[in-house]
Amino acid sequence: MPSHYTFAPRIKLPPAPFRKKISQKQSLMQKQPEQSRMDKIVSLAKRRGFIFQSSEIYGGLNGFWDYGPLGVALKRNLKECWWHDMLTGHDELATLPGAPTPYEMTGLDCTIIMHPQVWKCSGHFDLFHDWLVDCRESKRRYRYDHLKGRWASHREKRVFVVTEQSGDEALVETAAKAQKFFGLRANKSSEIEWAEAMVPLAGNAPFAEALGPDAASPGTLTEPREFNLMFETRIGALAGNDDDRAFLRPETAQGIFMNFKNVVDTSRVRVPFGIGQIGKSFRNEITPRNFTFRSREFEQMEIEFFCKPNDSAEWYRFWRDRRWNWYLNLGLTPGRLQLREHDADELSHYSVGTADIEYAFPFLPDGEFGELEGIAHRGDFDLRSHMEGKLVRRDGELVVETDDAGKPRHRGSGKDLSYFDDISRERFVPHVIEPSAGADRAVLAFLCDAYHEDEVPDEDGKPRSRTVLKLHPRLAPLKVAILPLVKKDGMPEVAIDLYRKLKPQMATMYDEKGSIGRRYARQDEAGTPWCITVDGQTLADTTVTLRDRDSLTQVRVPLDECVDLLRSRLA
Ligand code: ATP
Repeated sequence: MPSHYTFAPRIKLPPAPFRKKISQKQSLMQKQPEQSRMDKIVSLAKRRGFIFQSSEIYGGLNGFWDYGPLGVALKRNLKECWWHDMLTGHDELATLPGAPTPYEMTGLDCTIIMHPQVWKCSGHFDLFHDWLVDCRESKRRYRYDHLKGRWASHREKRVFVVTEQSGDEALVETAAKAQKFFGLRANKSSEIEWAEAMVPLAGNAPFAEALGPDAASPGTLTEPREFNLMFETRIGALAGNDDDRAFLRPETAQGIFMNFKNVVDTSRVRVPFGIGQIGKSFRNEITPRNFTFRSREFEQMEIEFFCKPNDSAEWYRFWRDRRWNWYLNLGLTPGRLQLREHDADELSHYSVGTADIEYAFPFLPDGEFGELEGIAHRGDFDLRSHMEGKLVRRDGELVVETDDAGKPRHRGSGKDLSYFDDISRERFVPHVIEPSAGADRAVLAFLCDAYHEDEVPDEDGKPRSRTVLKLHPRLAPLKVAILPLVKKDGMPEVAIDLYRKLKPQMATMYDEKGSIGRRYARQDEAGTPWCITVDGQTLADTTVTLRDRDSLTQVRVPLDECVDLLRSRLA
């Protein structure tokens, strides 16, 4: 959830920049991001076929990423865990800890392109903006709320030196730029007088005195302009006028609201219930960056949970905690995960809460976190918008926005999206709790968290450094590798037989190429939790060696118990 998210639509409002999770000063004093660790993760992701730059042979396309053989398996496993744990595996008869009552969950898969009115009533058409600033000199474009800087003066001259960087990198960059600007040698740089703080450009410096991040002279940055993040397209062969304009969805959530009535009318769900959806979303981000973290095409995993208004506060807390625990149960390191409740002044008047689940990605300065998922209490805003028309807040109330003629600015569907509870005989517009997660950001967090370097003994007992992905077995692209110790003496035959028993049950690989040490190393890098080795003893007593990726223990297991054993470990 963006920090500038103060009103019901998930809309980019004009910047209330730098509402940081830690103070600016604190961040400047802290160490640089673990860039080399991040570089290693990016390089492993490419080398082992997790993630590739899209259209790489043509030079790549900024903000677009492809998942290779291991990556697609990891991402599918992650989405499958979410779908299972939130929807299909949910016990609809039980009252889960923290939940006011039992509840039902169901799924949906709707189109990426929807009626343009959807985005007008949701608020995205008018408000889904970032603010951008162009540099007339370098021709580069920046997100206004990402620009910050500090005042530097030397003799009679002063300038506001602007940077996009954070933490120590921001200090280093601004110092170098100021030195160049004032034409000083390195040994004279201490003559520069600095205003103490690094502050946002917004509201702190006239543009005429701002020295842009890639400019040589001040005054080249343009005034900020709104930039709608929705990708536009045209529908139909004769498309040409504005009425044919359609949008690639910037979130999957609206498709769920579109189908709320369909689901209620056609299935047996009763409030409280949730609808989940996984699918692509598109945002024309001004500055895609940090590997897949901010992409222009990405996947979301979203739930809209519909409940009675009076119970909504309890349901909000339930979902916040349920989603938090999901990441922990799949193995994210607790110390790198943070639950950030939005301050009261960030909430809309009816909302009891919004929280972000955040992860300390290695590309961020120490102490900073990036959003993985937002959990929002949205009241009845969404269903009412699609009934009545685009809503605005006036005198603390949500009312339909009108134009100069007093007509709705964006007309709603006019369809009744209220719900009739036939037991309590009440009719109401359900309130909504929305846990909204990014699949790509989650994959990135699990990859970063799983990345470890350690030492293991090689075949001769000498320590050998290894790179290992300690992925949770449910997420691991491959669950087990079957390795004959040597390519002779009947070992491959036994190993292939075992491979064929395991393959229909779980992602299994057979590998007989290279030394056993190299084969273990390959599996460790891919995050495979178990390796089974068929060796000389197997032929004598029909046992195999089961090696555990994390503990490195090797135990002998009867050959005919392998399938059941691994299945039970994965269950
Ligand atoms: P941010 O503040 O980082 O731009 P957001 O608050 O706008 O994110 P939401 O609108 O709440 O994001 O979207 C829900 C989830 O979708 C986010 O928590 C994130 O995991 C994912 N997401 C949003 N934008 C992107 C993006 N450009 N690239 C990858 N994932 C994204």
